[in-house]
Amino acid sequence: MRLLEFQAKRILREQGIAVPKSVLISSSENLEGVSFPAVFKAQIPVGGRGKAGGVRVAEKTAEAASIVEELLTSTIKGHPIQALLAEEFVEVRRELYIAYLIDKKANLPILMGSSAGGVDIEEVAKKTPEKIIKKYVDPTLGVQDFVIRSLAKALEVSDLQSFRGLTDQICTIFQERDATLVEINPLAVTPNGFVALDAKILLDDKAAYRHRDLFDDLQGEQRRLGRRGTIRSEELAEERGITYVPLEGDIGIIADGAGTGMLTVDLLHEEGGRAANFCEMGGLANAEIMRQTMEVVLANPHVKVLLISLIGGLTRMDEMADGIVQCIGQINRGVPMVIRMCGTKADVGKQRLREAGVEAFEDLQEAVRVAVERLKES
Ligand code: GDP
Ligand code: MN
Repeated sequence: MRLLEFQAKRILREQGIAVPKSVLISSSENLEGVSFPAVFKAQIPVGGRGKAGGVRVAEKTAEAASIVEELLTSTIKGHPIQALLAEEFVEVRRELYIAYLIDKKANLPILMGSSAGGVDIEEVAKKTPEKIIKKYVDPTLGVQDFVIRSLAKALEVSDLQSFRGLTDQICTIFQERDATLVEINPLAVTPNGFVALDAKILLDDKAAYRHRDLFDDLQGEQRRLGRRGTIRSEELAEERGITYVPLEGDIGIIADGAGTGMLTVDLLHEEGGRAANFCEMGGLANAEIMRQTMEVVLANPHVKVLLISLIGGLTRMDEMADGIVQCIGQINRGVPMVIRMCGTKADVGKQRLREAGVEAFEDLQEAVRVAVERLKES
């Protein structure tokens, strides 16, 4: 799970790391708690906001109102901005980079740091990778003093004690909350010490059961901010226990088994189409599960065509057809649907679909081809 910046900063603050004073705002009317000059930051689950215009400085209230208005009605990298973090402007001497994460190659935690922090860190990583210092950490020993000293030297940090405190705090957050990444970029060096100007935290979804309350709170908060799009599909799928993996394309896929699903994705790509998701209902779906799964996949606004690929081993095709017809009655947002059906009661199922005006085929290859055609027409 990716935390939004204000959520990550709250965790940092709880651990004792300095972050700028801030308020979360969702309209230009509630600017009372903001002190100027202020920085307004789009709360969206992607980085690079600074370069995309999502981080703006305002000197006075008058100026702030129009900046807030503009940001809250715009979209960055496909994410509508639902809320802004309004922060006090911090005087910065230097911008550092620091991150603690799992290195998948070595299967070890790694502490990374750079004196060239800020919005250009990706350029730095590409062009001058030697400016990013990497230190593996033995999890049984923790971050040892010599690691701190050599990192502090590379980052030209003189206050070793504060730096040690900060790295300990970062490691504690990482370990106690089962994070997979804790990153501060930039970590500002100010006359009053270190201040985390930006924060990114990823929590390990597989460890969610150990932090149920934390996950529920964070997810509830993000939902209340109204995250839309594919994220909505993912949330719905999670609530309903449906296997759903978002992909980049525009043809939504539902299958009644994992094998059928993967075969369908492969065939679709061979025919020049691109799957918007992978989704399978498991072998024991009924009409209601079919209807709910269609809601999940259709909640993704990028889906232009829906391809349902059923093999009818354990599922009954008459029931699947009923679920599809019910769903169309409820949320017909004009997405063409192409259904492949074979196996148990497929004749009855296809008949019911055709009566409802839905295209149904026995042959998977043919269904896939038609789905790609419907996309071109749409
Ligand atoms: P990102 O582009 O999504 O990583 O967003 P950041 O939160 O890193 O903000 C972009 C840049 O804005 C930062 O790298 C800082 O250089 C700058 N910035 C943000 N807040 C402040 C602030 O309070 N003071 C100063 N001087 N710069 C800030
Ligand atoms: Mn940043």
